[in-house]
Amino acid sequence: MKRTWVNETARSLPPSGIRRFFDLVAEMKGVISLGVGEPDFVTPWHVREACVFSLEKGYTMYTSNFGLLELREEIARDLQENYQVEYNPCNQILVTVGVSEALDLALRALIEPGDEVIIADPCYVSYKPCTIMAGGVPVEVPTKPENGFRPSVEDIEKHITNKTKVLLLCYPNNPTGAIMDRTSAEAIAALANKYNLFVISDEIYAHLTYDGKHICLASLPGMVERTLLLNGFSKAYAMTGWRLGYAAGPADVIAAMTKIHQYTMLCAPITAQKAAIEALRNGAVERERMVDQYNQRRRVIVSGLNRIGLPCVEPKGAFYAFPSITGTGMSSEEFCEALLKEEKVAVVPGNAFGKTGEGYIRCSYASSIDKIKEALNRMERFLNNRRKAAL
Ligand code: PLP
Repeated sequence: MKRTWVNETARSLPPSGIRRFFDLVAEMKGVISLGVGEPDFVTPWHVREACVFSLEKGYTMYTSNFGLLELREEIARDLQENYQVEYNPCNQILVTVGVSEALDLALRALIEPGDEVIIADPCYVSYKPCTIMAGGVPVEVPTKPENGFRPSVEDIEKHITNKTKVLLLCYPNNPTGAIMDRTSAEAIAALANKYNLFVISDEIYAHLTYDGKHICLASLPGMVERTLLLNGFSKAYAMTGWRLGYAAGPADVIAAMTKIHQYTMLCAPITAQKAAIEALRNGAVERERMVDQYNQRRRVIVSGLNRIGLPCVEPKGAFYAFPSITGTGMSSEEFCEALLKEEKVAVVPGNAFGKTGEGYIRCSYASSIDKIKEALNRMERFLNNRRKAAL
């Protein structure tokens, strides 16, 4: 009898909706992609040079499981300077292989079987699968454009049960571009305190905030003891391929995560850690230059989408616009497949990020202004053709 090798959990995980779509894109020529959530800049030269220099010096070995102390000290300094939040670099910071690994470690270190994890929906594609793989139960709280795609405290409260342990949040948000304002952040912090919940706060887009200053959840009163702050180098420093991130939080949670990390990953690559030290020490000017570019592109894409009839709440962070396509009568997937086939523009169906994402598409503006303008022209033609066909 043929035996099934793959376990039930892995078998029943749906493949990422983003990947499925990009397999289609890979087979086509002349596509303008507003699909990938990846900077179109290369890592600033001085950061790459620091890595090259470290190789020349022979830094090719493992580091401490926690990561290089020099890097953890820079991370602690950066968090203190930017958000006035204190972490001890010796036992409260763990350097990981991207925020992706930090998220997986966090859920595995925190979750008992059956614990519920509240997740604002739509959300980054890995939150629910990683929760399930850790034995937890994802509980989706829908967010709405009229609330700026932030979960209201009342909506979260309705989903809290005696099994709720973790609130998993991401602001600035992928896919909606929403940011957390101070009033909402304080209300969520009060709720976490009231129900004694732990918060995982994925702040990978913190530096990509275009309206005011990023609010770091751990910096709010009573939060540093119950928050795990995740951040990394992929987005702000255009370092996706280096695979480097970190977690900062209570020492007991970091110690548990470090145990899992030491058995599964051992340490993050030393070359990337050397480069990250340089990024934190001297990368602010280049980082701000990239953020300015994203901001200009943001204005072009948001006004363009609204002009062609795809209403779009102003995204105030990250590099995504999340317009509604309900007026077209198509589902998110139908819209994206037809747009790709007819006009060779790739955007991601909103339902790839959760049920609440149905009726939306995610357009990344980590792409040149010229490409964004051309994509908007093609999208306008696509919509006009549909309108004409409907007459
Ligand atoms: N968290 C969010 C919200 C993201 O959008 C991404 C990547 O798109 C990640 C985490 C993964 O980041 P990393 O490259 O650090 O693993």
